Amino acid sequence: MSKPTVAIVGRPNVGKSTIFNRVVGERLAIVEDMPGVTRDRLYGPGEWLNYTFNVIDTGGIELGDEPLRVQMRAQAQIAMDEADVILFIVDGKDGLTHADEEVAQILYRSEKPVVLGVNKIDNFKQRENLYEFYSLGLGDPIGISGSHGIGIGDLLDSVVSHFEQEEKDEYDETTIKFSLIGRPNVGKSSLVNAILGEERVIVSDIAGTTRDAIDTPFTRDNQEYVIIDTAGIRKRGKVYEKTEKYSVLRAQKAIEGSDVVLVIINGEEGIIEQDKKIAGYAHEAGRAIVIVVNKWDAVKKDTKTMDQFKRKIREQFQYLSYAPIVFLSAKTKQKLVNLLPTIQMVAENHAMRVQTSLLNDVINDATAITPPPSDKGKRLKIYYATQVSVKPPAFVLFVNDPELMHFSYQRYLENKIRDTFGFIGTPIRLMVRRKN
Ligand code: GDP
Ligand code: GDP
Repeated sequence: MSKPTVAIVGRPNVGKSTIFNRVVGERLAIVEDMPGVTRDRLYGPGEWLNYTFNVIDTGGIELGDEPLRVQMRAQAQIAMDEADVILFIVDGKDGLTHADEEVAQILYRSEKPVVLGVNKIDNFKQRENLYEFYSLGLGDPIGISGSHGIGIGDLLDSVVSHFEQEEKDEYDETTIKFSLIGRPNVGKSSLVNAILGEERVIVSDIAGTTRDAIDTPFTRDNQEYVIIDTAGIRKRGKVYEKTEKYSVLRAQKAIEGSDVVLVIINGEEGIIEQDKKIAGYAHEAGRAIVIVVNKWDAVKKDTKTMDQFKRKIREQFQYLSYAPIVFLSAKTKQKLVNLLPTIQMVAENHAMRVQTSLLNDVINDATAITPPPSDKGKRLKIYYATQVSVKPPAFVLFVNDPELMHFSYQRYLENKIRDTFGFIGTPIRLMVRRKN
């Protein structure tokens, strides 16, 4: 169902993050303009030939002050757990080291394909350094230079050759795929259980599956849903599962496969920094979002409490102004009935296509009320608008000169579109293109 995942492993300083940035760099640059974005990425989208996939830089997942050997062992384990193809990077300048051999020992035990990249082969002469890496027993080493961009194509050719034939998405277009994200103990597993009730399907490890997706399908009121595996739901008790970075990684994976993401907040504890970070990923990914305040049963309330909490959420998550907020209790099931209808509503908005003529009426009315900005006597002209995609809805405005568009005017148009068509729960994208 989901895209294949490639995990990069290797000793510190061999060039993992350099290679990660090469593979996902361009796409991230676009995302970084957006508010609420975190820069310390270890998970991102890659593209090569006709393949799209996700890349993990396991080097970014650190286990406090543990010694190098323990760190490397955990990183190799994460790669084996999370990836379809493992990209093992070694350093062609340093030559083969004992630590490389240890990592190779761990990777042998995996049934996942391993591609061996020898980095820092910056020129032809250094290709001699490749040969000793044959002794790792992981097949032909591929010489690359991450910083010079040499050999990356060959490396990716080898990586994608291991992808299984593109599996068809096994779910109907109308099935709503959603995930629950949030830090540990906010009540994600409890909420999954509460939603599923007696229809609960045992969520277990399916041994031997290459894509480690654990999806739970169910039907309610004639609507089909799938709950996508989520950070914190599948607790297996490995050391790295307690780290924040790992929970972020799992959240990113779950978001990737979802139409709708439930951002779960612990009503008892309020909002902390990590909540914002996790929600930021869902926003960046363009998913529909519902903010769920759980454990509402445990909160001492008067008539103002809910409004106060709402205001706090709006302050703290300014970029999520479109997301509806649901207060509930997984434990007592109080207000739980509101949840699935809300998920259904935001999913519909996320997939909504608007009529081009109506869209252009909205833009024309908006520009009549507040004329577009001008600079040095030249005024922005909007010729026409069209919706180019859904999930999330994306619009292109064809204009005389994109430079003349101001952030605030774009925001104004976005709001007009929202006011007219609703789009509750979904981000929308507005792009400006020159038309000659
Ligand atoms: P990581 O710790 O494995 O993520 O390694 P980094 O990507 O941070 O790289 C470690 C160092 O190696 C940095 O100083 C990079 O500039 C350098 N480096 C990365 N790729 C190459 C390469 O292809 N050739 C050379 N000469 N240096 C590189
Ligand atoms: P997860 O780590 O996000 O999956 O959280 P869990 O579902 O394991 O829940 C963490 C703790 O919070 C458990 O002790 C639950 O019993 C408790 N909990 C979960 N939902 C609620 C709720 O709605 N109200 C109260 N009072 N406790 C809850």
